[in-house]
Amino acid sequence: MCYAIPGRVEKIEDNKVIVDYFGEKRKALNELTRLNVGDYIYAQGGYVVTRIPSEEAESILALWKEEFFNLQEVDLKLSRLSLNQEKDSKLLGILDKASQSKLLTKDQILYLLELKDTNELELLYKTANFLRQRNNKNSCCVHGIIEISNYCRQGCHYCGISNNNKELKRYRMTQDQILEAAKEAVEVYGFKSLVLQSGEDAGYSIDELAEIVKKIKEDFPSLIFISFGEIGLEGLEKLYQAGARGLLMRFETSNPHLYQQVHPGMNFESRLKHLQKAYSLGYLILTGSLIGLAGQRTEDILNDIFLASRLNAEMFSFGPFIPHPHTPLANQSQVQVDEVLKVLAVSRIVAKPDAKILLTTALETLNKEASKRALLAGANSLMLNVTPLSYRPLYSIYPNRAHETEEITAQIESTLSLLRSIGRAPTDLEVI
Ligand code: SAH
Repeated sequence: MCYAIPGRVEKIEDNKVIVDYFGEKRKALNELTRLNVGDYIYAQGGYVVTRIPSEEAESILALWKEEFFNLQEVDLKLSRLSLNQEKDSKLLGILDKASQSKLLTKDQILYLLELKDTNELELLYKTANFLRQRNNKNSCCVHGIIEISNYCRQGCHYCGISNNNKELKRYRMTQDQILEAAKEAVEVYGFKSLVLQSGEDAGYSIDELAEIVKKIKEDFPSLIFISFGEIGLEGLEKLYQAGARGLLMRFETSNPHLYQQVHPGMNFESRLKHLQKAYSLGYLILTGSLIGLAGQRTEDILNDIFLASRLNAEMFSFGPFIPHPHTPLANQSQVQVDEVLKVLAVSRIVAKPDAKILLTTALETLNKEASKRALLAGANSLMLNVTPLSYRPLYSIYPNRAHETEEITAQIESTLSLLRSIGRAPTDLEVI
């Protein structure tokens, strides 16, 4: 099973390489030694992940060749945009401007975030999909997430694995179990990019985490994202040295007052410092917020999108807050799918052209149709859960998570068939 299409190295300039995919050129950073022009590689998230023997690459490419162009055609058809409608509305003016990649004013963005009418929302989604296609073609990156521990020292009010949930059975995977899960994800299922996530678990030292990252990187070549919460600025540095190249850390809300309300004992500034430090170290930044917390205003969401941009997000991660029964926010109401789709679409409009917009598992959890709708509203990235099935239900950040009990093969099958149906290919490099 293979998600990334092999690319052929066309040009090497220091650590930058140009990669060819059936005549289409993309760029990537290379940290592998002994890479030559003409070599075939897998790349992910802008990084060359591994080299592949030519014969193997050529036989995979032969299988992909026809499909690659068919997919592009399907995608192109689905992302056509026609804003020449009868109505000379304010909305059309804003979307027309957005479709030309002109900067929108704050008021215009707020207007988009406040849309309610179904037809108007569809136009917003179509504009975002148009921009996604124009800037990123039909690339869609698929990451595998391994949730290594559900122990957490924090007490976030929305989160089911918070330290305050005394009803949850806790688990912590051993180093061998983590390596085994990574091996399976990379060698059996073909993932090129892994996210290692946990609560803030003092049960692993930074040195242990660094050793795990290093071993995965050495033995199972992949782009590694870490998501262990606030591990300290030095911790970030050590894990970067060990080979981690991405940080998944949401700031959860850009409203400091709301942040304080739902994160007792935590510090907004400290979270931001982690994100800033990570960027300065060279990490790819995946960040964003929860949508639908009580007290969150549309203006807060606008600021969330701006903050993600200011933090240099490579990937925008905005998902619905889903109330968990064993948390202080158990009785809050559930945000609607469109409220989240709107944020994805507006993120696509506001973000740098090559940004990735994540379709979150939480959104998939709200509604099965939501995945496809998100991918057609600007999203171009998703995560499959490769945590061992025995632990997965225990990583209960919110109830009934999508894929909680689904074998990896079934997740892969349904994801690939969804991607195919809308013309997306699992390539993951910036188009140049
Ligand atoms: N310890 C890591 C990982 C936290 S869990 C960190 O601090 O970054 C990963 C994400 O799950 C969180 O960032 C949060 O946004 C999300 N999450 C937690 N509870 C949730 C809920 N009830 N509904 C939706 N998302 C939730």
